[in-house]
Amino acid sequence: MRRGCISLGDVQCDDCHRIIQYPERYLVVEETEGTVLRLCVDCCLNRGYARYKVEKGERVLTFFSEPKY
Ligand SMILES: [Zn+2]
Repeated sequence: MRRGCISLGDVQCDDCHRIIQYPERYLVVEETEGTVLRLCVDCCLNRGYARYKVEKGERVLTFFSEPKY
């Protein structure tokens, strides 16, 4: 399960290990084994968990709720 969240400034990315500052968005990924990963936007983009799309001339970040194959 994946859930997009907004950091309150106390979240660390489990991939690149940087602090995700408020009000940056991040993704919570719950693996089937019960492992929970928090990923910053950059890591989500790198892994293909998120992408930017352009809506009405604005760049909008979209998190994928399910894996894309
Ligand atoms: Zn990261």
